[in-house]
Amino acid sequence: MTDRYDGSRAGGAGPSALERRKAALAAASFPPRPDGAGALLGDRVLVYLRREQTDAVLPYADPARGGLVVTGADPGHALGPALAAGTRLPLLNDPVGYETVRATVAAPFVLPAAGLVTVTLAEVLDAQLRAGAIAALSPTGYIPAGGTDVLREAARQFGLLGRADAIFTAPLDISLLGPSYYATTAAILAGIGTPVALILGGQGDPLTQSKHIIPNLRDLAARVPLIPIRTDFNALDLVGHGAIAAAIGTGGSVRHTVDPFEKRRAFSRDQSPSVLWPELVSFFKGSKINELFGARPSLAPRCDCAACGGRRLTRFLRREHQSQAIGHAAAVWTRWAADLLDAPTVRGRAQYWRNLCAGAVAHHAVFLAQLQLLEGLTPQEPLKRWATLPAWPSIPAAAAVP
Ligand SMILES: [Zn+2]
Repeated sequence: MTDRYDGSRAGGAGPSALERRKAALAAASFPPRPDGAGALLGDRVLVYLRREQTDAVLPYADPARGGLVVTGADPGHALGPALAAGTRLPLLNDPVGYETVRATVAAPFVLPAAGLVTVTLAEVLDAQLRAGAIAALSPTGYIPAGGTDVLREAARQFGLLGRADAIFTAPLDISLLGPSYYATTAAILAGIGTPVALILGGQGDPLTQSKHIIPNLRDLAARVPLIPIRTDFNALDLVGHGAIAAAIGTGGSVRHTVDPFEKRRAFSRDQSPSVLWPELVSFFKGSKINELFGARPSLAPRCDCAACGGRRLTRFLRREHQSQAIGHAAAVWTRWAADLLDAPTVRGRAQYWRNLCAGAVAHHAVFLAQLQLLEGLTPQEPLKRWATLPAWPSIPAAAAVP
């Protein structure tokens, strides 16, 4: 996976190198992945979580298809509960320096001080591996809007280490994936050659900040050994379009990040947990689900996942129900991930995901009709796009067979 950015069309006729590459990827059983960290993590959908959520997730993650990415500046502390439980899941540690520090050209990585000495980038990576991580994530600072020079310098310094056991973390302001900067961003990330752990930075849902984001992310997944982490079901969309692995966050705050110079926008004082409504492939506040079915509790959906065992979705109301809500979500999406990864080709993965999303959009109307409501349940924008965009770009006939 060392191909450089090449969107050009040689001679102005026939498919471009990039189009041929996408055609080959669509027909492949799984995306090509670099040796080392890429091979170890390939074809997995992991859970991205905070340390204290470990016990809630462990029973439902799949050792064959999943894994954990645990946040925390101290890798031994972050991975401790999972290791103490004797898990067989592959583990990663995200040191999350980007939550508090912006990267600069002079200091693209967030390196802790040990007394008067600053720890080196290589030492930070080694500490993660020593603590039990299967591969190391670079402690990259937040790459701010317009910061392509910062990203280039971070990638250059990371590349100098020449380590196959490490993954370059790219916590990118979402504008770097928009129309003004995408070509430059993609060229820099494609030049790294090792896997890139992508984190989207922005207030609210970064996917909704421009209509270009979802297509650009899919394009990136076809060009870079990509591992979107700290994200929502964008993870499954991108594994359907060539990402080698992904990690879904357990709650809203770990499904994106925010520029450390900006105040994180508070959403609400509602203490009920974020709950996955499986038929709608969307997360809602537990209080919202309960309110919708308040007058008709017998219509409230039941869930047959390993965490719910047939109980209703209206039971997640208070803060103390958060662990159960996290277990339920992980159990449900672990099944989807297994089905998606079992598709015979990468194109089949995309088709599975598009069908799941199209069904979810339709289910919004089904529930409204059951509840005899005219409004109050609108499909979220990314879900509508995943359901309607072509599962895979149309590819010129000459390129269809590699
Ligand atoms: Zn469930």
